[in-house]
Amino acid sequence: MAQVTEADYKTAQQGDAKVRQDFLDAIDFGENCPLKERAEYQEEIKIAPPSISEFGSLTIMKFSLRLLYPDWNIGEQHLYIYRTAFHLPFNNFMSFLLHHEVHHARQNQKKDTRTFVAQMILQTAEFALFENYRLVTTEVPAYLNQVVNQDEFPLASSDLELLTQKKVPKYERKMRQLAEKLGRDWRADLSRVLCPSPFDDVVRERYNLE
Ligand SMILES: [Zn+2]
Repeated sequence: MAQVTEADYKTAQQGDAKVRQDFLDAIDFGENCPLKERAEYQEEIKIAPPSISEFGSLTIMKFSLRLLYPDWNIGEQHLYIYRTAFHLPFNNFMSFLLHHEVHHARQNQKKDTRTFVAQMILQTAEFALFENYRLVTTEVPAYLNQVVNQDEFPLASSDLELLTQKKVPKYERKMRQLAEKLGRDWRADLSRVLCPSPFDDVVRERYNLE
């Protein structure tokens, strides 16, 4: 399946909801993409809890994940992409979609990651702290995955700089600070959310993880 092109994207940007959905359907997500339903276009923001949402400064795609009780098997993972995401340049859009959001879906496929998320929900006294901790721990690998895949979809240089010079270092600091507050071992927790090699090798090297 050939990958969509910038011309296809331009058509989607100018088109209505159906044209945009057709564009999303034509994207090659690669083999073994864990998103069952793939990407769904939505005009309006609808959040169905429990879900994990993403509204970063660099992206306005929303990734919504649903987990099933009680053994934290994954129910289904939906990726919702909103109107505003189509304001992004083509490469940013594709980088966030295929190398960031799909990376989260890959993380969530792992039982270790799901147990980590489950712990957050059980730590009701520290819920907010733990939620922030979970967030930064899963975001760092997702951002670094975009960086190592720059050859495929290069981010605009100002965005790449923002990501590598500000975003990742800030999240690293937060990860360490929150781990200390929560009495957690951040290296062990980070290892738990890593995807099988060669994914996340950049993270293993950066932090000297097994
Ligand atoms: Zn993310």
